[in-house]
Amino acid sequence: NRDLSKSNAQFRRAVKRLPLGVSSTFRYWGDDRTVYVHHGKGGRTWDIDGNGYVDYRLGYGPAILGYADDRVDAAARKGMEVGGVFALSTEKELIVADRIAKMVPAAELVRFSNSGTEAVMAALRLARAFTGREEYLLVEGGYHGLFDAAMWMADMEGWTPGSNADPDVVPYGKGIPPTVKKLAHLVPMNDMQRLEDTFRKHGDRLAAMLIEPIQGNCCAIMARVEYVRLARELCDRYGVMLIIDEVKTGFRVGKGGIQGILGVKPDITTFAKAVANGYPIALVAGREDVMRTFRYGGASHGGTYTAHSVSLAAAEECLRILDETPALETLANHGTQLMAGISAILNARGIVHSYSGHPSMFGLFFDAAPPDNYRAWKASDYSFYDRMAHYLHDLGIIVEPDSREPWFMCEAHGLDATCLTDTLAAV
Ligand code: PMP
Repeated sequence: NRDLSKSNAQFRRAVKRLPLGVSSTFRYWGDDRTVYVHHGKGGRTWDIDGNGYVDYRLGYGPAILGYADDRVDAAARKGMEVGGVFALSTEKELIVADRIAKMVPAAELVRFSNSGTEAVMAALRLARAFTGREEYLLVEGGYHGLFDAAMWMADMEGWTPGSNADPDVVPYGKGIPPTVKKLAHLVPMNDMQRLEDTFRKHGDRLAAMLIEPIQGNCCAIMARVEYVRLARELCDRYGVMLIIDEVKTGFRVGKGGIQGILGVKPDITTFAKAVANGYPIALVAGREDVMRTFRYGGASHGGTYTAHSVSLAAAEECLRILDETPALETLANHGTQLMAGISAILNARGIVHSYSGHPSMFGLFFDAAPPDNYRAWKASDYSFYDRMAHYLHDLGIIVEPDSREPWFMCEAHGLDATCLTDTLAAV
């Protein structure tokens, strides 16, 4: 077991001032296991006790190149000299938006935000303003941020696996008004019939369907391509905006995102995370006619910190690297090698397993096939995975416990061969 005595002491001090001792509830791993970071570099993180970790959580995905990437940080430093934020725009906004439009054809017009939550909130606002409708469709197991409209989930506690009845729709926590729920509809991923029925029943009142085709907050459960194509078709038929949330997949699974891989063009896309290798920037992008709804008298959008000069400069350099160098192939190759290595070890022990997602963000399951929706995942026994995640953590490999998140790769993992050997030695 690793020595976490300094982290433990820090927790005891921090919890007196910070709820749960952290600044995001997801960073709390229990009183004795909550780790405080000293620094990260490349694909590794060091805690305040001096323990080094190969980090496959990567801050939930943003560090696409690796922590403290010298190229992006140098650009960010130049961005500081510009002055931060103004009540005016800068030239770099267009440079970055042009790069994004080149990489993702559906991103005809672009607006910047600061976080994934803000970008998805803006996307839903935009869809409502453009269609004049209020209701929207979410896919079970997806996560779209912290705003009230996005925080509805299927309650699996009281649900019997295999039951024909739907699970109850419940908020992610307290403080989310039940009145908001009336506008939200949830469908199980990959159930085509169910999707058609839902559109038949509610389609004329829906402003948007929001989907994460690789559920990056739910162990990379994947939408089948036919499912996303059907979603596109139904959205067209009923005049509904298809929003593909690429906050996690964008500029990670490929230059053109998951939409490029699936060959489905959404009306609106949201990006964040990998855009600037961890500097806070996000964006909502989409069809020209829809995006022009952002105007006086149309949908309101803004924000004091949008298009901050440091984040923009970092985004410009990060996207240049992702677009013009083999960084994305390097990190995907690392994921492929890692999965092959893990499989060899597990197969030698006769441990049945499978993967989902993409080599740059893959989910690992101890079943013959990965679940294809949240209900199936919740019905499976993932306690073995959790034990493995905690065990790996003690051996210096960080992956998300509770099977919530996929394993995230960065370019630096792929360039540092010892990340692979260290990980496989631990597995
Ligand atoms: N959408 C998706 C798909 C996400 O993964 C996340 C964050 N995990 C969000 C939205 C919200 O982003 P943020 O945490 O930056 O607000």
